[in-house]
Amino acid sequence: AESRVINFGAGPSALPEPVLQEAAKGLLNFDNSGIGIAEISHRSKEFSAYIAGVEQQIREQLSVPPTHSILFLQGGGTGQFSAVVLNMLARHRLLHPNLPDEERVLDYVLTGSWSKAAAQEAARLANGAKVNIAADARTLSDDGKSFDRIPPHDAYKFSKDPVLIYYCENETVSGTEFSHDEKAPESFPFELLPQGTLLPLVADYSSSFMSRPIPRLADHAIIYAGAQKNLGPAGLTIVIVRQDCIVDVDAAAKLGAVPVPTGLAYKTYAEKANMPNTPPTFAVYVTGLVLKRNAELGGLAYYEAANRRKQQKVYDVLREGEKKGVLKGHVKPGSGSWMNIVFNVLGDGAEARFLAGAEANGMKGLKGHRSVGGIRVSLYNAVTEEQVDKLVSYIRDFIAEAQ
Ligand code: PMP
Repeated sequence: AESRVINFGAGPSALPEPVLQEAAKGLLNFDNSGIGIAEISHRSKEFSAYIAGVEQQIREQLSVPPTHSILFLQGGGTGQFSAVVLNMLARHRLLHPNLPDEERVLDYVLTGSWSKAAAQEAARLANGAKVNIAADARTLSDDGKSFDRIPPHDAYKFSKDPVLIYYCENETVSGTEFSHDEKAPESFPFELLPQGTLLPLVADYSSSFMSRPIPRLADHAIIYAGAQKNLGPAGLTIVIVRQDCIVDVDAAAKLGAVPVPTGLAYKTYAEKANMPNTPPTFAVYVTGLVLKRNAELGGLAYYEAANRRKQQKVYDVLREGEKKGVLKGHVKPGSGSWMNIVFNVLGDGAEARFLAGAEANGMKGLKGHRSVGGIRVSLYNAVTEEQVDKLVSYIRDFIAEAQ
């Protein structure tokens, strides 16, 4: 539609227009039921079949192995900060019932504000267990306090037999992301993890889910993401859980583990085909439409290629701007996110001018997160290459004029 602008927002974020048009029809009449998607019972045969199809689409597109279940929860990434701790503490209790609590350790890798927030929640819920910071990217930065890089492999110290090992694949605010190139120093150090055991590896994929394949997916205990970046509206949280991590939380509580609220226990969802209670029906619906479109376009291989080109174009113009002293990237080259590119525009009032000029050219959502400042360009799946080209040419003109 003509009144729509280009949305580079960090989330909730752009969705494909054909999906929105289809969703508008579904609001009036879902699957020829004569009832709109926001009105129909989640127990109806139409919706029950639909939600099972959404799960199947995720399984196929991400190649999720049969060892892992796909669960649909609510509460967002924030809910999972708590859920992963509680479910994994219960698992550890069942595995090692007699271990003193102070010998249970949760390993956290800090690469930005979201992993930091997750570690803080772990400390709140640990109930005597210890939170070990396995690596903290800030200690490597020039000022000692910025999240501006992914640590090299020799910077990690993992515990023996931890309750969980936690990382955030893409840090939406700092703009740091693990490299998927296993040989790059900025890759996740899988080779340092305990070998030959079921790894308690937990990954926050909130802002990179479905943007490209997940490396070593089968080695993860839990991978989770809110739908609201690459997949759909806010409200749906997707959790991929290896089945040994779907534990009997009540049996664990009897042995002294923290009781897990019913709505946060993975078992509740796994046992009831994802519908122990009312799921966020509209968010599930739109997510299904996006997945259907993904499959038509060529799945994750298509998005990986397109997203690779999109980020390359923006980083290229950022490097041009740096050479000319107009722009300054927040993140060390090699550690930069494909999804969220963060930089400053140098000079008094320059950022305000940059943002106003972008808006005058029909581009919004570029203001950086309040904690980091500057500019943040989010390049989720629904942002097209033409839209990126338009932004790049705006930035190039801005650089030329600023000189
Ligand atoms: N993790 C990451 C990487 C995020 O980007 C966000 C939110 N943008 C969260 C966690 C928190 O998720 P939510 O807002 O869904 O609770």
